[in-house]
Amino acid sequence: MDEKSIGNEEVFYGPRPILGSDGGIDMGTYTIEYDRSKCIGAANCVAIAPDTWELAKDGLADCKLTNFDEKVLQKNLDAATGCPTHAIVIKDENGKPLV
Ligand code: SF4
Repeated sequence: MDEKSIGNEEVFYGPRPILGSDGGIDMGTYTIEYDRSKCIGAANCVAIAPDTWELAKDGLADCKLTNFDEKVLQKNLDAATGCPTHAIVIKDENGKPLV
């Protein structure tokens, strides 16, 4: 698995197969790096991109996807921009941070 947890910090590495909107396997192009230790539970990400983000029982956000294609890119760019603690970083297929 391309996923690591370091303390409260969750770092994801893509690509990893996800279910596409048609139910088939989709290889995401973009990757989310989420530092949960920075999350304050403001829930902006959940409001902006509910298909990707959800609040856990502890009041902090969990990321439901680790990589995705252009269909959900803009919402996640907006979620990253809207995060008050900069806990979310979106990277392109070359690992270059977009936000
Ligand atoms: S917007 Fe940022 S601080 Fe707010 S819940 Fe999402 S990750 Fe946490």
